[in-house]
Amino acid sequence: MKNIAFSLCVALAFVLLAGCAQPAVTATPEPTAAATVTPTAAYHKPVIVVTTYFLEDFARQVAGDGATVVNLLPDGANLHTYEPSPKDLELINSADIFVFNGAGLEPYAENVAKSLPKTVRVVEASAGLTLVESGDKDYGLYDPHAWLDPMMAKRELIWIQNALISADSKNSEYYQARTSAYFTSLDELDAYIENRTANLSSREYIGFHPAFTYFNARYNLSYAAVIEEFAGDEPSAQEMARIVDTARATNIRTVFAEPFLDPRAANAIAKEINGTVEILNPLETLTAEDRANGKDYLSVMRENADTLSKVLS
Ligand SMILES: [Zn+2]
Repeated sequence: MKNIAFSLCVALAFVLLAGCAQPAVTATPEPTAAATVTPTAAYHKPVIVVTTYFLEDFARQVAGDGATVVNLLPDGANLHTYEPSPKDLELINSADIFVFNGAGLEPYAENVAKSLPKTVRVVEASAGLTLVESGDKDYGLYDPHAWLDPMMAKRELIWIQNALISADSKNSEYYQARTSAYFTSLDELDAYIENRTANLSSREYIGFHPAFTYFNARYNLSYAAVIEEFAGDEPSAQEMARIVDTARATNIRTVFAEPFLDPRAANAIAKEINGTVEILNPLETLTAEDRANGKDYLSVMRENADTLSKVLS
């Protein structure tokens, strides 16, 4: 009965709109994606709800004008400890697609996903990836930070693309064209990072929270130490002393902080070793300023590579 009512509505809407301008999608295409297909006018624009910034970017890259993307995580919040509000839960329940990374990155998401109505397509973006065991039990069994390897990011995008095609099959060619264009950008990014990290005088560094494990593995880098085993957990005095010892033993003069975690521990270690603090952004969130400056996954990943290249050359 509902379906019939809906069909009637759609038919009526079509009659009403037939005489006017095309009921087209109005937003302008994003300049980064060389999409060649225009989405056909959809009466229901799918809504994709995501848990974090990098999934917001990936979902937008795939969706273009075809769907609306809503990110639950406020800019600057700690993804690892974020708890959804009742409004967030409402958004997820009414979404066409709910995308989360999984592997313990968003502790709430796995349970929420189990309780959703069948109308919500659930994408666990890290599904099917070969994940490494986590060094910290707070993450669960596996290290969730796969998206910082651009080739693993591709796999996450494929899940989003498939869900979107299932929710909006009329525009499948459009979504496929956009995904494929973004894959080209990811290949270029990969070549750029490869190049920036090819000839370094040192290949190990002191990270802030252990987000860059997959990145390190892909570009043959490694952590000499990390300052916070779990994002937001300040190190103890003994841990700080051990990191200082490691820095001295390996002749490391730079430690890394992140834009959204308290940098005091990094500053204290840098002071102790007479060194400096640099920033790496794991793309769990962005600042409003970053957004205003048009930063995204691709540009921040290049900045990360530039920073590492500068420090390790
Ligand atoms: Zn993290």
